[in-house]
Order: sequence, then structure tokens, then C-alpha cells
Amino acid sequence: MSTVLQAYRFALDPNPDQESALRSHCGAQRFAFNWGLARIKANRDQRKAEASYGLDWDELTPSVSRSAYSLRKDWNQAKDMVAPWWQENSKEAYSSGLANLAAALKNWGDSNTGKRKGRKLAFPKFKGRRAGLSCRFTTGSFGLVDGDRRHVKLPRIGVVRTHESTRKLARHVERGRARIRSATVSYRAGRWCVSFSVEITRDDPAPAQPDVTVGVDLGIKSLAVLSTGEVIANPKHLEVAQRELRRLQRQASRRQGPDRRPGQKPSNRWRKTQARIAKLHTTVANARHDGLHKLTTRLVRTFGAIVLEDLNVAGMVKNRRLARQVAGVGMAELRRQVEYKASWAGVCVHVADRWYPSSKTCSDCGVVKAKLRLSDRVFTCSSCGMSLDRDLNAAHNLAKLAETTTSSPSCGATVNEPDGNPHKPRSTRAAGIATGRPAPNSAGQRRHRKAPAHDTLSHVS
Ligand SMILES: [Zn+2]
Repeated sequence: MSTVLQAYRFALDPNPDQESALRSHCGAQRFAFNWGLARIKANRDQRKAEASYGLDWDELTPSVSRSAYSLRKDWNQAKDMVAPWWQENSKEAYSSGLANLAAALKNWGDSNTGKRKGRKLAFPKFKGRRAGLSCRFTTGSFGLVDGDRRHVKLPRIGVVRTHESTRKLARHVERGRARIRSATVSYRAGRWCVSFSVEITRDDPAPAQPDVTVGVDLGIKSLAVLSTGEVIANPKHLEVAQRELRRLQRQASRRQGPDRRPGQKPSNRWRKTQARIAKLHTTVANARHDGLHKLTTRLVRTFGAIVLEDLNVAGMVKNRRLARQVAGVGMAELRRQVEYKASWAGVCVHVADRWYPSSKTCSDCGVVKAKLRLSDRVFTCSSCGMSLDRDLNAAHNLAKLAETTTSSPSCGATVNEPDGNPHKPRSTRAAGIATGRPAPNSAGQRRHRKAPAHDTLSHVS
């Protein structure tokens, strides 16, 4: 039994009035974000200018506090002046924008001082009219509707019909095992969604074969090869959609797109095609996620320990011959899912070092080959004469690795801590799923580490 934070997302089917209310709330969120940012920026520029005149630090205009709390306080004092229409939306909409701004400023500050790893972040930018729409509610009446599994409740917006049943969440709520903490509405690829952040007591079944260690070799030819000999085919959703995607992209190229230099605005017809392209990409992504979830759940329900490779996915995507195939498989996502699901089920996850030559080592006698081409599909050992499928050999090596190194730091609960709500139990967070943002300590940062090109290739099989 463990308490974790989990997100449940449902597609919404709002009526026209509800849709305009949703838009209004998301606009209010953006307004508050931009208002706060303008204030912080003005203060920052003022202090910079004063410092350039040679004033001492204590003589400068005092800096404005950047916490969500003080931003909210300042907003409440100013809102009658800057936004006399503020009562049209729930106050949560404005708080949501200011909380986002506070988080963005903190991330930027931490990145500047080196507290936050990874790519250096730029100072937050103003949100334009075409920025993604979203708004988060943390207080007020929101959640599921009692005895009705086709509607959700949102503050000020009302009871909105969902495209699918809310059963998967409703059952947990009815049994008193789940508590909904916040609701985020968003508009992506032509569809409104609500995502509930839920504190849930999970009781995952123990794996069926707790003593078995499985090595998982990820690849492109087949999505994964398990050391048990099982081959999971690559469904190639993106490849299948390529034909339609190419057609739409040709259509877009015939229409008037945006051009920044002469200030040319895109035509409505161009926007329509872009919307269709976005929708197709969403369909592909949904199909991919569905397959990955089914696979990763099966892995943690079956095996007591799972060994994965630490792949340099960002590096592989840079290789333009592999980029589409690698992106189309979702390897980084697979690892993320295995890690958080394993932590729920108490399954060990071992991550093999990036430089571990899983493909080049003989799984029988342990001799490491100096060179192995990507085109060599069968591994033949020159020392003991063993001959085995390349990917299966790699999977065997990975499984063996866990047996030699019994205690791995990633074994047990892999808990990453995304930045997010204040005063929430941090220990209950699971990797990256709680806020929908990528977890700061997990795969996200590894992408930025560089690896020599030849080794990136040797991992793909
Ligand atoms: Zn051998």
C-alpha cells in the first residue's frame, strides 16, 4: 500500500456557453500571468538602471517579492484597477496564472544559481494570444458528480459532460481511497480536457514471478526484446500516419503561412490544416501511449526486477537518420513509465550504465567484441562460437547485470520530486506524473548530456 499522486485525464464535451467560460478562465489565467510578469520585469529593469548609475545596493528600489503568495496579495490590491471585469471568472483562474509565474521565476532563478540542473532557462516570457490554454482550480467545488459517470464538476463553469466514463476514478473515490486535490482544464489539438491531480492509496498486486529478473533491450526494429525471448513488435504508429501527414503538409505548403519578416499573418485555411496536422499527431501519440502503458504495466506485474539501458535518447534524436524512428517508439517514455510503476508495485528497476556494452558482449562467455555493426543482426562469438539474435543477446546481458550488482541505488522506490504545489506531502510524489511536467531529476536532464555519435548508434538495435 502506498499513497501516490496520480493524474486522471478526461476529454470534455462542453456546450457553447461552457466552452466560452473555459476560454474566459484560461484567458484570465494568461492575463494574471502577464500582469505579474510585467510588474516583476519593470521592477527588475528599474533596479538594473539604478545600479548602472552607480547607486549602492541598499539605495535601490526594493525588489518585488516573487512568491506566489505575495503576487496574489498584490493582484488582489490591483485587480479593481487593472481588471475591473475580474468577477467574471473564478478567482482561481488568476491565482493559477500567478502560481505558474512564481514557478517559472523560481525555475529561472534556480537555473541561474546552478541549483537546477540541465539546460539554462531564460527569463519567463509573456504569454501570447495563441499560447496553450490552461487553468488550474485548487479550491472550490470540482470533481466527479455523485452517481453520474459521464459528467465532471468545475467551479463557475458548472457540470460538463465527458467524452468517456469517469469510472476508473469514480470507483476509487467512492471507496474513499482517492482524494482529488486539483483540476486543470486545458485545450490541446482541438479538444478540451480536464486533468485531476489525485492523491490515491494504491494497492498494486505483487509481480507474478518475483524471483525472475528480466532484461529489456529497447530498439527500433522491434520495440523491445525481453531476455525471456519474447519480442514485442514495434507498432510503428507514426510510420502508418506518415502518408496522411505528408498529404496534410503538402496542403499546408499550398496555403499562406506566417512570415515573420514582412509581418505576414497566416491565413485561416493554413491554420485549419495546421489544426488537422496537430490532431493527427495527437492520435498517433495516444496510440503510442496506449501501447506503452499496456507493456509497462505487464512488465511490472510479471517480473520481480527489470533491467533497462540508460539510453541517450536526445542524442539519438539528433541523428537524422534515426530521429523519426526513435521518436516514434517513445523509449524515454517507456523508461519513465517502468520506473514509476515499479515504485508502486515494489519492483526493482536497474538501469545499466550508458557505456555498458550490452550488444557487444557475449552473453555466454562474457567476451566483449571490439566492433559490432548496426547491420549485424545475429551476434556470433568468436571465442566460444555462440550464435544468438543480437537483441536477445543484449537482453540476456542486461538481465545478468542485475544478478552481479545486487544492490542498485535505483532499486525500490524511485521517487522524483517535481516542483509544484506548496504544502503538499512531497514524499508521495511519483515520477513526473503529478503535475504533468517532466520530473526535474529524471530522464529530462540526461538528454542534455552529450555522447559521442558512434556509441549512440551502437545502442540502437
Ligand atoms: Zn562467447
